[in-house]
Amino acid sequence: TNGLTVHELAQEIKEPETEVIKFLFFKGIATNINQTLDIPTARMVAEAFDIQVETAEAESEAKKTTEMIDEGDLENLKQRPPVVTIMGHVDHGKTSLLDAIREAKVASGEAGGITQHIGAYHVDVEHEGDNRQVVFLDTPGHEAFTAMRARGTRVTDIAVLVVAADDGVRPQTIEAISHAKAAQVPIVTAINKVDKETANPDRVKQELMEQGLVPEEWGGDSIMVPVSAITGENLDLLLEMLLLQAEVEDLHANPDRLAKGTVIEANLDKARGPVATLLVQNGTLKIGDSMVVGSVFGKVRAMLDDRLNRVEAASPSFAVEVLGLNDVPQAGDEFEVFKSEKEARAIADSRAIDQRQSRLQQAMASRRVTLNTLS
Ligand code: GDP
Ligand code: MG
Repeated sequence: TNGLTVHELAQEIKEPETEVIKFLFFKGIATNINQTLDIPTARMVAEAFDIQVETAEAESEAKKTTEMIDEGDLENLKQRPPVVTIMGHVDHGKTSLLDAIREAKVASGEAGGITQHIGAYHVDVEHEGDNRQVVFLDTPGHEAFTAMRARGTRVTDIAVLVVAADDGVRPQTIEAISHAKAAQVPIVTAINKVDKETANPDRVKQELMEQGLVPEEWGGDSIMVPVSAITGENLDLLLEMLLLQAEVEDLHANPDRLAKGTVIEANLDKARGPVATLLVQNGTLKIGDSMVVGSVFGKVRAMLDDRLNRVEAASPSFAVEVLGLNDVPQAGDEFEVFKSEKEARAIADSRAIDQRQSRLQQAMASRRVTLNTLS
């Protein structure tokens, strides 16, 4: 990208828009929330608020490191399931599609009673004679995705872009495409609602082409599957295509090591205390493991899978709800298991101190702006 708006910048650095506008005003730059700032200017603002800005290069480097594979893993790499996020314009059928896939693919006895979701689920898919899995994140997609990206965390291997065949490309479709591109996440498009009489999948493809996504059947490399969340048409084909795309991505992790990954959701449960859904991105997470989550210490007391069954272990690409954290971490925080509880506690403590310090610095930076305002 060659810039971002004041509004976007304020969101990225988690400061009020008015503070950003004020800061720029006192640097002699008049702006409004919709004005696009170039990268050097955005960087100057962010740094004034004590935030380090990553360039595109640094970002792709960050992407590599957040894939969480170390040199030591190379000998033990095993294939892992793709982690998929659903994006698209409001009312184009994201929720319906997730529900339809879950209902069709999760064994009926299990799916029936489940009303509580952990923010992620997996489905089993027959692929070339093997039993494979696809993991879906169903956190309020978009927002979580953006928040995580802002922290340089990459949790998604593939984005499913849902576009309604009777409505076509809309503003949030374009936004979703640009988010996925910025995060270098490949897109598989589900052209949804093809059961509708007014559906026009070819027109949708045409519009997607204008956004740089060229369907395979027209000579491009973008997978587009016409589906219906209501009739269930082609849902199997969509899953099949996700596994094909996963093969292109060559997704691996080392299950034989201490786990690492990312917080998908977290909240304080009145009865159970802090509860977090953790996506395991490398290693295997086990009961009794001592971990640091963001700056929080935790010792895994219990784990529930997406069907709310208690499990003893979670391998790469699987998400589990974890009990036993000392506090509520934030979505997008990374977690890491350590050999000893003592080590994990020490690291959590020192991170908590760092965090307080940087908050203090940030508070002081914004006070500087406020004082400037007065002078
Ligand atoms: P979201 O905002 O993207 O999550 O969209 P929803 O899943 O809430 O769907 C919006 C509306 O479209 C709802 O009324 C759905 O019943 C309807 N809808 C979703 N998928 C389909 C489909 O494949 N065919 C038809 N006819 N309607 C659909
Ligand atoms: Mg929805």
